[in-house]
Amino acid sequence: MLNVAYGAVQDEAAIESMRRILVTFWFFAPFEVVLAIWYWNYKVPVEHTEAVVWANSLCLLHTMTAVATSLLTVIVSRILRKPNLNASTAITMQVLMCSTYLIYGIAVSYLDVAVGGVEAFILVCFAVAGLSLMRPLVSIALFGITLAAVWQMLILTEDGRQLAIMRLNTLAAVVLAVILSAIIFHQYARSLLLRRELEVLAGQDPLTLLPNRRELMDRLRKAVNLGARLGTSGALLFIDLDHFKNINDTRGHNMGDLLLKEVAQRLVASVREMDTVARLGGDEFMVMLENLGDDLDSAARQAKVVSEKILRRINQPYVLGVSELHHSTASIGIALFSPNELSVDELIKQADVAMYQAKDAGRNLMRFFDAEMQVRLNERAAMEADLREGIEKGQFVLHYQPQVDSAGAVFAAEALVRWVHPQRGLVEPGQFIPLAEEAGLIGELGKWVLVTTCVQLARWAAQPRMSQLVLSVNVSSHQFSQADFVDQVTQVLLQTGADPRRLKLELTESIMIRNVDDVMAKMNALKAQGIGFSLDDFGTGYSSLSYLKRLPMDELKIDQGFVRDILLDANDAAIARMVIALADSMGLTVIAEGVETSAQRDFLAELGCHHYQGYLFSGPLPAQAFEALVTRV
Ligand code: C2E
Ligand code: MG
Ligand code: MG
Repeated sequence: MLNVAYGAVQDEAAIESMRRILVTFWFFAPFEVVLAIWYWNYKVPVEHTEAVVWANSLCLLHTMTAVATSLLTVIVSRILRKPNLNASTAITMQVLMCSTYLIYGIAVSYLDVAVGGVEAFILVCFAVAGLSLMRPLVSIALFGITLAAVWQMLILTEDGRQLAIMRLNTLAAVVLAVILSAIIFHQYARSLLLRRELEVLAGQDPLTLLPNRRELMDRLRKAVNLGARLGTSGALLFIDLDHFKNINDTRGHNMGDLLLKEVAQRLVASVREMDTVARLGGDEFMVMLENLGDDLDSAARQAKVVSEKILRRINQPYVLGVSELHHSTASIGIALFSPNELSVDELIKQADVAMYQAKDAGRNLMRFFDAEMQVRLNERAAMEADLREGIEKGQFVLHYQPQVDSAGAVFAAEALVRWVHPQRGLVEPGQFIPLAEEAGLIGELGKWVLVTTCVQLARWAAQPRMSQLVLSVNVSSHQFSQADFVDQVTQVLLQTGADPRRLKLELTESIMIRNVDDVMAKMNALKAQGIGFSLDDFGTGYSSLSYLKRLPMDELKIDQGFVRDILLDANDAAIARMVIALADSMGLTVIAEGVETSAQRDFLAELGCHHYQGYLFSGPLPAQAFEALVTRV
């Protein structure tokens, strides 16, 4: 059984049969020219007036046919070159060409009984020529029938023969008209359908050569199973072009096809090689993103990034055919699949529902199936826009959290950034630092923090008590990996006049994942100026001790996560002990952060850690309050 709708190949089949009839015209037109010339030069004795009329009429008929067929040949050839050709134009041209055969056949048989028989034969030969492009067996059979008919005709009596010739000619013309248009069309359409069916079986969409629905389902099933085994999430994007019907209706199916092909290419270019782009049929596409990590939130963010990229690319203008410009948009529905989740059908349904929500919301949009997820993403987008504005408008302040020694004296402070948002109030860095990193804003924000800290250092340098303090600045690994980071710091120190020996940069273990040689070169260059380094949140990330040994660190910071339960959890205590021992063996100082109780401090002191930071001493304070705290004693 053929699964593809007949209508799907109608255009292509009509155009192909038109092309085949045109091939018969290549013979037919010159043949008519030759005949017209032949009758023009036909020499008849003067007294045979009947013969003169006969020759003239035939000359006229062949001339007219020659002109008509030549014209049609040119016109049809030109039409065939058009990119947006559809079935109705092709069928109209076929009718015109076949009507020429029909009218000619009838006319010639009434004008010339004697030659008519031969011409009828030639006419049928044309039909056969047209058909033979398709079916050799049919051609041979038609040849046989024609020969038999001509033979029959020749052995009839004079009168009977005349009648037979006329009938045969008429028949031949009708056969031509019907056979050429109908049979060729249907045969070709059937072979096309068969080919399509084979392609469907092979898992490929014939137009775009993308995987088809069947293939996608297969891959999706595998991806969901694999995801469940590896514990990774993925996303399914249902993409539907907006108002695609319009282009088909106004510019023809060919143009629609061109657009679909172009969209397919753009989709493929928008995703990683490992992802799947499939065409479900019509203007519906699906993109399957695999391996998006183990956390659904991050999968959603990645899916969002890809969808935005797809929307952007689809929005670019299309050049269809020779010069026609077209604009198109799409709506995208996104369903996420987590390791322990649902069936493939359910997943497709979710993506479909989400796509309709995107259409409802005004098209050229994407929507997540999960409403909550959508809300979170919207909030994030709003926050990102706010953050950009905040950086522009300078809505940030630094607070300073004291670091104390065993005697409780403040010897340093950590600069911690806060966002003074006009509506949200004071926003903690945990809520915007990761966002700034992802949005590529951390460089600018980090620079501001650095400048502000150095300005503060320079200002305090004039006050005897404050001038003794070291200020720590958090540097995110994104910021540190900037090519000109060393220059930036050097410039800031120069411009503010801050003492580099009072500046300490807090790095996290994540810098070690990056190019260690680069990290080392940067650290050494900064160290040479007198800047200190502290390894923040030590023990929570990935640390290679052999790398750590090579880096010019000054201090390890025991993460507050280990300090919190240090009295209750033996593991935390063991880790703290290990960090302290490690710092000791490497000749580094060690500081514990998040110290909230004196019991914690005493325990840490017993382990050999004598520097502390935490609410027990003070939370982060605005510059003035911090200054007051330090100078109070
Ligand atoms: P961090 O560098 O580990 O900073 C220590 C965090 O612990 C600070 O949170 C601080 O307020 C908090 N803290 C201090 N003492 C205690 C305590 O006794 N108990 C508890 N539970 N918490 C305490 P904050 O200010 O919210 O900063 C969070 C993180 O944001 C920082 O962690 C740091 O990674 C990042 N951050 C802060 N400012 C900057 C900055 O200017 N640049 C960059 N790149 N990151 C920053
Ligand atoms: Mg820190
Ligand atoms: Mg920390």
